[in-house]
Amino acid sequence: MVSIRSESVTVMPIERKDGTYALRLCLNQGLLTPGMTRSVMGVMEAHPGITLRATTGQRMNLEGVSKDMLDEVVSALGSSIPKCPPGVSVCPGGELCKYGQQNTRVIGDRLLEVIKANGPYPFKVKSGVSGCGMACGLSFVRDVGLVGIAKGWNVLFGGSARHRAAPGLRLAKGVTDDEALVIIEKALIYYRDTAKKGERIGMMVHRLGHEVVADALK
Ligand code: SF4
Repeated sequence: MVSIRSESVTVMPIERKDGTYALRLCLNQGLLTPGMTRSVMGVMEAHPGITLRATTGQRMNLEGVSKDMLDEVVSALGSSIPKCPPGVSVCPGGELCKYGQQNTRVIGDRLLEVIKANGPYPFKVKSGVSGCGMACGLSFVRDVGLVGIAKGWNVLFGGSARHRAAPGLRLAKGVTDDEALVIIEKALIYYRDTAKKGERIGMMVHRLGHEVVADALK
């Protein structure tokens, strides 16, 4: 089971159109400890206008924080940073879900370490880990995706849920945890060194062509 590292909450302030702020809770795999939950509840009880909203990336936003209460709310929660570290969307996987063919949480943490270790990248890298082909971790349309099958992991690279939505290029089928992470590391280094600034992985694959990218990553 993945470890939760802190009782305090790290947040990223985001300015909204109306001049208020959202505080993005920089969660790992969407998990909150009792202490973190108490801090969030305490802020909402002290400031009834502040609401809590789930994001698609398994994080949460405290919405409606006025500028004059920003420092007070941040210190009640923990600390703030300009940008949350990259996140991994991770489904419950084989540990919890009856359909799961692979466990997701430990490899989700390991994947995050690989992503962090090889940046900075030309643009953001979103990733998803799913314990089976139903892909509740959005693995097919993430920049990097892992999908559990009976014999291991399928590795996807360059999926996109944007206007040119498409599943990622499949780089491997039925590989072990270690093999999958080695393949992903190589692919991320290729992305880092090949893409244009601001170009997501899927855009790079579209520009260069599937065959070129697949050949380079053999
Ligand atoms: S992807 Fe599969 S294992 Fe994960 S939550 Fe969905 S059904 Fe369960």
